[in-house]
Amino acid sequence: KKFSREKILQIAEEKNVEFIRLQFVDILGIIKNVAITIEQLPEALDGKIMFDGSSIEGYTRIHESDMYLKPDYNTFAIFPWETSGGCTARMMCDIYLPNGEPFVGCPRGTLKRAMAEAEEMGYQMFAGPEPEFFLFEKDKEGNPTTNTHDKGGYFDLSPVDLGGEARRDTVLALKKMGFEVEAAHHEVAPGQHEIDFKYTPVLRTADNIATFKFVTKIIAMQHNLHATFMPKPIYGESGSGMHVHQSLYKDGQNAFYDPEDEHGLSEIAYYYIGGLLKHAKETTAILNPTINSYKRLVPGYEAPVYISWSTQNRSALVRVPSARGNGTRLELRNPDPAANPYLATAVMLRAGLDGIKNKIDPGEQTTDNIYEMGYQERKSRGITSLPATMEEALKCFQKSEFMRDILGEHIFNHLVKAKKIEWSVYKKQVHSWEIDQYLSTY
Ligand code: GLU
Ligand code: MG
Ligand code: MG
Repeated sequence: KKFSREKILQIAEEKNVEFIRLQFVDILGIIKNVAITIEQLPEALDGKIMFDGSSIEGYTRIHESDMYLKPDYNTFAIFPWETSGGCTARMMCDIYLPNGEPFVGCPRGTLKRAMAEAEEMGYQMFAGPEPEFFLFEKDKEGNPTTNTHDKGGYFDLSPVDLGGEARRDTVLALKKMGFEVEAAHHEVAPGQHEIDFKYTPVLRTADNIATFKFVTKIIAMQHNLHATFMPKPIYGESGSGMHVHQSLYKDGQNAFYDPEDEHGLSEIAYYYIGGLLKHAKETTAILNPTINSYKRLVPGYEAPVYISWSTQNRSALVRVPSARGNGTRLELRNPDPAANPYLATAVMLRAGLDGIKNKIDPGEQTTDNIYEMGYQERKSRGITSLPATMEEALKCFQKSEFMRDILGEHIFNHLVKAKKIEWSVYKKQVHSWEIDQYLSTY
């Protein structure tokens, strides 16, 4: 344990903390705050701060709208940017009901349940995310655009890379908040960036992703830019993914490593891959939650389309990076940064554990570039595709008892309802592409 109650009170006093933001995410993964003053900190640490759950997406319960925030002491961090008069700290919270029970609609709780299942089997999950994002300019009114004057490309250095400074400041802010940043670089598309942080126990990873998105947006704002985690903001350019590197540890050892195996992978690793692949279709609605997510999952932009695994090529859904020993891990490539980090990590973990429990064989790996294969060849090799639209993903999700079980009735039902509305509104829209294509032709 890093922080005790006393320690937090002491740091808050020493660092002149004036405000504390109690943070949590809604079901869609959007970060929320209840801000309190330093005088309320002792009460907050005791989990006595209440908020109105009915104003939070997916939280509403007819009779209970009073909910309590129970902070996780280990997530205590002071925001490194300037605010007028004293500084601001934050803690991530779990949501509780007035009767003291954990709220079933709390996504952090969903992940904790998945972790408990892993623990019962003797495993601890570590995860390292690679979130990508765009930095865009704002117009005269201050509204975000999709313009970037940036002509940078993969690993380009400034001065071409105008967002470089914002990215650098983001990394510094994250480090001050306790992140170990492994790499930060320009990505393939103009205005596109990536910041990778070191793998941590999965609960911390999910907290980190939520924090990261919010810190990136704030720092971008300070540079008069807009940071977006929308998966595919520009047609014809790469989209933003959030690959997740994952491994299981057992008794302090990496359970995915086996030096005797031809690929250096243990049986557990193969079964975990088997689970990820088997459940790929039903987990997609969580890992790629928006209509826009599916505009990224198309051939030609290093984003996965087909359900396969490989130790070599990046067209596969699950790639095994070359590191072995304690660095042995699997990279799942379809998640995007719009995903709710708690639900996303929970479904990945549970899919992998299911593979282990049921000894699911992942089949042969695919060493060739799948994008170059025709339909018949894919068919003969048994390679199927990820859902191509949110509607298709939702259909796979909705009929999955496995997903219902992982997420719990409350979150599952709410997501189905919210996503159905989203799709039905979208499908009635007249897109600018249709106007360009048909207005003068017909
Ligand atoms: N931007 C690519 C994607 O949509 C990933 C590029 C990479 O391999 O880092 O997943
Ligand atoms: Mg990348
Ligand atoms: Mg990657």
